[in-house]
Amino acid sequence: MCTSLRLEWRNKEDEVLRSGIGQRLRSGKLPRAPASSAVRSRAGNGGICDACAEPIANGQIHYEAVFCSADEPTADRVIVLHLACYELWCQESTS
Ligand SMILES: [Zn+2]
Repeated sequence: MCTSLRLEWRNKEDEVLRSGIGQRLRSGKLPRAPASSAVRSRAGNGGICDACAEPIANGQIHYEAVFCSADEPTADRVIVLHLACYELWCQESTS
């Protein structure tokens, strides 16, 4: 029973996160996947996630995706995401 309650809770959290990411994609605050170069992962250092605006703590995995802007080819844009946010961002970008 504990397991199913926990799954339900997680799904709700995911839905909130997913709709937030969808809104940011539509408004242009987040670029769409895939990134223009390889996505890097490393340990979090308290940076703010571009998807959920929460800090990425030391014990969490930090994803960095780099984008080249078509208008300004020299100005790379880097977005920073939690692992879970990264997965949802990939799904939302292609849906
Ligand atoms: Zn996040």
